[in-house]
Amino acid sequence: MTEPITTYKTSGNIEIIRADFPILSRKVNGKPLIYFDNGATSQKPKSVIDALDNYYSNQNANIHRGVHTLSQEITLDYENARTTIQKLLNAAYSHEIIFTKGTTDGINLVATSFGKRYVGLGDEIIVSAMEHHSNILPWQQLCDEKGAILKVIPINDAGELQLEEFKKLVNSKTKMVAISHVSNTLGTINPIKEIIKLAHAKNVPVLVDGAQAVPHTIVDVQELDCDFYCFSGHKLFGPTGIGILYGKEKWLNAMPPYQVGGGTIKTVSFEKTEYADPPLKFEAGTPHIAGAIGLAAAIDYVNAIGLNTIASYEYELLTYATEALQKIDGLKIIGTAKQKASVISFIVDGLHPFDIGTILDQLGIAVRTGHHCTQPLMARYGISGTVRVSFAFYNTKYEIDEFIEGLQRAIKMLK
Ligand code: PMP
Repeated sequence: MTEPITTYKTSGNIEIIRADFPILSRKVNGKPLIYFDNGATSQKPKSVIDALDNYYSNQNANIHRGVHTLSQEITLDYENARTTIQKLLNAAYSHEIIFTKGTTDGINLVATSFGKRYVGLGDEIIVSAMEHHSNILPWQQLCDEKGAILKVIPINDAGELQLEEFKKLVNSKTKMVAISHVSNTLGTINPIKEIIKLAHAKNVPVLVDGAQAVPHTIVDVQELDCDFYCFSGHKLFGPTGIGILYGKEKWLNAMPPYQVGGGTIKTVSFEKTEYADPPLKFEAGTPHIAGAIGLAAAIDYVNAIGLNTIASYEYELLTYATEALQKIDGLKIIGTAKQKASVISFIVDGLHPFDIGTILDQLGIAVRTGHHCTQPLMARYGISGTVRVSFAFYNTKYEIDEFIEGLQRAIKMLK
């Protein structure tokens, strides 16, 4: 990521920013909350909470189907939210943006719909050894149903994809490469532009799981030239239950609907149904309208700070915490790629991650412990789980100092 900038850390902006997040001022177990579980879900600024409140207090109506004022107003806001996301990802058209429930839902949509049309007996799907279960299971299930084969790009000990191996895996039977932009467990930032280029050279489309990337870095789907890109609103400081699938127009036009029902059609008779064009073809039923509005508010908030500023500041936090952790005896960082986002996984000799997490919780420090929905990755390292800290732009070096002190205390108590 880019080099640190100094204005953000020295101007006092951080306290102003923290004040925008009501939950950051609460106490947990009598201690000020230190929230280092942003990879699981991030906290919400007041503007997002207010947008949700305002929707239910003043705007609530269903979209796309009403002539009355409330329905028309909220339809406009819902479609404006789509445009906000189009701009965030620099998609060519707003109809390439599908509202989903989240990353998992987006991947299931593509695996089911694309899979139905394009995957058959003996075909191959490529994922990587560091994928979240949400980017393995939909493809594994598709392969089971169709008699297709799941291939896996291996990683090196640092947690980087072995691109030479990837080149050997892509062939005329490959129907899809599904790969994470940033690993939720290792923090590795994958060279997805290069992967997409290599896959496209063999006419293979690429789905990118962007769940851990969008909150931390600028994503330009046209520059990447990816075919599909998924992310979750709740990791981007927005509401739960809302997410985004970007799909290239040509694929969305060609793919059958995922779920069918109200909102997905042009005409219906008992003999024949004509489906709507994307995005409505893929948005069956009443969507999470409040979620879309809240997600747009979250994007406005993030844009006001700037994703470049966020990336630079988080790089500082990552470097600071990594250096401090490396000094602790018996501690091993899992995931030491050259390109990393602000996620650090580690294990401590002889100690169970769960026990460390439990003691840290007593100190008001929220970390994640376990396999992080990446069991095949844990198997690759021969471990059952890690402790993971993941930072957001509202975290501080002071909090990292407190965490390191707490961790040292936990290790002393448990050894
Ligand atoms: N992929 C990655 C890389 C993730 O980190 C996560 C969430 N931990 C998911 C997919 C699934 O996201 P969601 O639960 O929001 O669908």
